[in-house]
Amino acid sequence: MSKATLDPDNWSAFRSAAHKMLDAALDKMESAGKGRVWTPLPDEMKAALQSDLPITGISAEELRQKLEELLPYGVGNTHPRFFGWVHGAGNPGGIFAEITGAAMNANLGGRDHGAIYIEKQVLEWCRQLMGFPADSSGLIVSGTSMATIIALKAARDQRVGLECRKKGVGRVALVGYASAQAHSCLGRAFDLLGIGSDSLRKVPCDAHFRMDLEALKRAIEEDRAEGNIPFVVIGTAGSVNVGAIDALEKLADIAALENLWLHVDGAFGATAILSNKIRDYLAGIERADSLAFDFHKWLHVNYDAGCVLIRSAEVHLKAFSGRPEYLLEAGRGLAAGNPWPVDYGPELSRGFRALKIWTHFLEHGTDKLAEAIDKNCIQASYLKEKIQDSSTFELLAPVTLNIVCFRYVPEDVKNLDELNKEIVITLQEKGIAAPSTTILNGQLAIRVNITNHRTELRNLDLLVEEAEKIGITLILEKSFKVCK
Ligand SMILES: *Cc1c(COP(=O)(O)O)cnc(C)c1O
Repeated sequence: MSKATLDPDNWSAFRSAAHKMLDAALDKMESAGKGRVWTPLPDEMKAALQSDLPITGISAEELRQKLEELLPYGVGNTHPRFFGWVHGAGNPGGIFAEITGAAMNANLGGRDHGAIYIEKQVLEWCRQLMGFPADSSGLIVSGTSMATIIALKAARDQRVGLECRKKGVGRVALVGYASAQAHSCLGRAFDLLGIGSDSLRKVPCDAHFRMDLEALKRAIEEDRAEGNIPFVVIGTAGSVNVGAIDALEKLADIAALENLWLHVDGAFGATAILSNKIRDYLAGIERADSLAFDFHKWLHVNYDAGCVLIRSAEVHLKAFSGRPEYLLEAGRGLAAGNPWPVDYGPELSRGFRALKIWTHFLEHGTDKLAEAIDKNCIQASYLKEKIQDSSTFELLAPVTLNIVCFRYVPEDVKNLDELNKEIVITLQEKGIAAPSTTILNGQLAIRVNITNHRTELRNLDLLVEEAEKIGITLILEKSFKVCK
């Protein structure tokens, strides 16, 4: 008889390798502020990652060594000078949850077990946080992209009728609206739901990069006149380019008047509702029919963790329920506890993401999480002023929350887009800092997003100083056209 089990042959050797692994992980986290921001994977490691499928295994000790070698090569978002895109900085406490979660190996598709109650608790906290009614529903998901698909599916099914779950949406000309600054995950959701990304109208923005509400009303009117069926309007609470927040209260009024589903993309911005200083800007979010947001961005839960909340649990349930016989609820025993999470989303087997969110709130409490958000906004204002005071940089967008877009504008240089892009890439490659780029009004911007509880003001000073130095060097090397 084969003795095949995947448990260790030698628990004490396994245990000692695991303890060493834990120490290495803690060392990595304790020294998060040291060294380079981003280090590309060395060529020899890339080559080593092209091996054949292993036939025989290795010891826990050998495995530990391989993992420790990998530790330095993350995205860099645990470092205080990581300012790219919208990445959360993570936190050491997450290790507790990940270890416990691995030991439990729970499947949260459904049934009646401890992990399910943790997810329910987390969702209850989310309702409280966002001002959603006690009987609204929700689901913990991988992130805002998945949350958006779930929310818009509920919106679609409610408008078209549940028959579309069987027959498809056919030729129903559904259309929806979001600002021109809205995230690309919205168009992808329209695509995946068979509505088509062209049916997401991109409404122009005002000077503050918020949706122009008069333009929205005109777009709805035009679509109706053409026989299209408007079904959803999507407000952005914290746009990815500049951190703009649409006028959610007014959007909610328009949605009510026009009988449209109001969805809010609050990927990183919604969690700023914790801050006394920002909460007012988000007023109206509690009126949304659905809300998508992330824990892994401005709350720093380790990747990945997001949430969808849906005002009408009934509409939500009807859009996803329908279990085959082998999954039926039993009233008692392990298969009890209706409804199950599987009734609210597309995934059957689901990991225990809720655990790291639960431990995160328990460990830090909302006061401290709010403080970290406020700190980032103050840092963004500081950077904004620094840019405004400088003669060689210019600001490219107003600063509402935590994102500062600017560019280096030395005299007599023509191709500023090229120059600024090169500055950003050089900062990244030298391991100094990691801002990203975006295009605003046709101009390339150095984009500094601060969703980072480890960032200090001196990190921003260094960024600006080094960006200028690199700019000067690049011009001296004459790789940039100087107009004379
Ligand atoms: C990040 C982001 C998304 C997508 O969220 P994921 O968690 O990456 O799936 C959507 N909208 C906005 C505004 C974002 O910043």
